[in-house]
Amino acid sequence: MTGATRGIGFETCRQLAQAGVLVLLAGRSAASAVKAADELRAQGLAVEPVTLDVTNAGHIATVVADIQSRFGRLDILVNNAGVLLDDVARPPSRQTLACWRETFDTNLFAVVEVTQALLPLLRAAPSARIVNVSSQLGSFGLHTDPASPIYGVKIPAYDASKSAVNAWTVHLAYELKDTPHKVNAIHPGYVQTDMNRGAGDLSIADGAKSSVQMALLPDDGPSGSFTHLGQTLPW
Ligand code: NAP
Repeated sequence: MTGATRGIGFETCRQLAQAGVLVLLAGRSAASAVKAADELRAQGLAVEPVTLDVTNAGHIATVVADIQSRFGRLDILVNNAGVLLDDVARPPSRQTLACWRETFDTNLFAVVEVTQALLPLLRAAPSARIVNVSSQLGSFGLHTDPASPIYGVKIPAYDASKSAVNAWTVHLAYELKDTPHKVNAIHPGYVQTDMNRGAGDLSIADGAKSSVQMALLPDDGPSGSFTHLGQTLPW
């Protein structure tokens, strides 16, 4: 579980551990991962800290080697770490290139790099689940529909990074289509986390449910889908 020190990621760790999963809680720094994992361990949950800045190739290599030597496989990967760096006061044409690049580094390229690195361990599992935490703001269908609730919400670098995560999900699902392994994208909802400065329709507990559902998907579940609480969203 990447980006698990707070918000939706932290709560997803809690709910997966409550469901009996041994959770590797990844944080950008060792200290933040240990602090978050300790909080869940104090609740009697099986949670272990992992140091993983998802944009750090050295961290990724260390995590892969660690999981390989300790477990030899990985059953679930939740790509949850994400940033929203756009200046929402500016129109789409006036976001900086630095913002675009930094956003894509974390929200897309790191998702691809972490997944590529862990894929051999996921393939070693009997039936792995990859969950990509996307957003309804990545949906072209919603962005182009004047009747959609997000029609007037244009956060270009963030939105495009999540559209790209959706595209990556479809392509990886195609690659895995003749295997037992599944990859799906989810929208957690508009959730009351730091990313939204506490605004949102959903509590963090409810915001974790879509990730948990797809992480624990039964073998007859979908692959290559984009859903929120089990409801299909337009790409
Ligand atoms: P959040 O409260 O801002 O938490 C983001 C998490 O990602 C933090 O743990 C943060 O770690 C981590 N992170 C960021 N960059 C990282 C990096 N380079 N390496 C490792 N960890 C990194 O956000 P959230 O609302 O829980 O969002 C979680 C996911 O849901 C994101 O992918 C977001 O785009 C998506 N999402 C959220 C909403 C919403 O309404 N909240 C809606 C749609 C989609 P630090 O503590 O070290 O910064």
